[in-house]
Amino acid sequence: MVDVKGDVAPSAVTMDKIVELCKRRGFVFQSGEIYGGIGSTWDYGPLGVELKRNIRDAWWQDNVRMRDDVVGLEAAIITNPRVWEASGHVAGFTDPMVDCKECKQRFRADHVEGDVCPACGGQLTEARQFNMMFKTHMGPVEDSAAVAYLRPETAQGMFVNFKNVQQATRKKLPFGIAQIGKSFRNEITPGNFIFRTREFEQAEIEFFVMPGTDEEWHKRWIQDRYNWYIKYGITPERLRLRPHDPDELAFYSKATTDIEYLFPIGWSELEGIANRTDYDLKKHMEFSGENLTYFDEATGDSIVPYVIEPSGGIDRSLLAFLIDAYEEEVIDKGDGKKDKRTVLHLHKTLAPVKVAVLPLLRNRPEIVETAKNLAAELRPHMATMYDDTASIGRLYRRQDEIGTLWCITVDVQTVEEDNQVTIRDRDTMEQIRVPISDVKSILIEKLNS
Ligand code: ATP
Repeated sequence: MVDVKGDVAPSAVTMDKIVELCKRRGFVFQSGEIYGGIGSTWDYGPLGVELKRNIRDAWWQDNVRMRDDVVGLEAAIITNPRVWEASGHVAGFTDPMVDCKECKQRFRADHVEGDVCPACGGQLTEARQFNMMFKTHMGPVEDSAAVAYLRPETAQGMFVNFKNVQQATRKKLPFGIAQIGKSFRNEITPGNFIFRTREFEQAEIEFFVMPGTDEEWHKRWIQDRYNWYIKYGITPERLRLRPHDPDELAFYSKATTDIEYLFPIGWSELEGIANRTDYDLKKHMEFSGENLTYFDEATGDSIVPYVIEPSGGIDRSLLAFLIDAYEEEVIDKGDGKKDKRTVLHLHKTLAPVKVAVLPLLRNRPEIVETAKNLAAELRPHMATMYDDTASIGRLYRRQDEIGTLWCITVDVQTVEEDNQVTIRDRDTMEQIRVPISDVKSILIEKLNS
């Protein structure tokens, strides 16, 4: 088991710097910005969608495709409201809310201390419970019979499909069902950029096990999910495990451990791994009248499986990967002068652009053509960018700032003398000169190594 870490410093980057970089380079924009935006909602730009897609793909590859005991699912966002009655969300998916009588701001009661407003020092109201599910209506009639909810978690899709998936795949316990998809919560205090939003993407696994083996599987999944963040580059000192105290456990949980990252706002949850016992399947049996038991051929018994649930957020992990990768380096320019460069040391699997092909001189047609041809040759194999809109120094700086792994420069020597190009490494800034015909195989090998 990984130990809970002691005191370490967060990344030197502030949230403001990350927000600014994300906008300037096209990772994340404020949603509806030209209309003044709307409470903590964000749109992913050209680089953001690539990064997000890479995170999703890495998660899916490791947790579904590489495992014989997990299969995938994509359930609907709007489903039968009875699902949310059975799960306890209609009655209990609430946060305590307080209002300031002076400045009228609203806070989550468990996020403020005492009854004094943290914004203006005014008097806070008594806490009231506030249901966080987004309500809508199915069809043209907006009466109570037509009420439906946007799902606040993807997990229930797996529970209500347990029988379908088990019968279709013939999986034996232990096995899991995984899903990545949007969830919606009417958070009282969203904020901190994409850390807490009202629309977000979750990556969840419901892993069904024999009762009695649940504690062992819980430990295994905690370790597995912790290792996953390290594998993709999170600094181990900024990642810790925090078991929940008994009094903070959710009603369905026998034990939960959070994986926390040291964000600029302090240690905060990236993912929770809960032992949900047989709570959900039993509730759905009770509410639907369906038999959701599992027939154990070995003993001839029908049992209700226990469930281990690793539940993470794609947006939140994207934020952690960005923060952890960010570095402002002072570099030697060679002439005794110092320079500053901002670089994103993103893991090679996650980097939104793998290679940029840059012509040294954009007014030399042979150089431009050679560079464009090389970019076209690389494009089917990896995310490739061509850029000739600035001087080479500035082009390097741009690519470093978005985490591009390699920059290839086509120069006069390439077209006049040796058909060779330079490959510059993002992290070491080392340059090697190689025949243009070898570039593709060299980069494919580096990517796969
Ligand atoms: P919190 O205590 O931060 O509100 P939670 O314990 O309610 O989170 P879970 O229900 O365990 O969160 O959700 C699992 C994961 O989904 C979280 O670890 C997080 O990564 C992500 N997540 C939950 N709520 C949000 C949100 N409002 N915005 C972005 N991601 C979220």
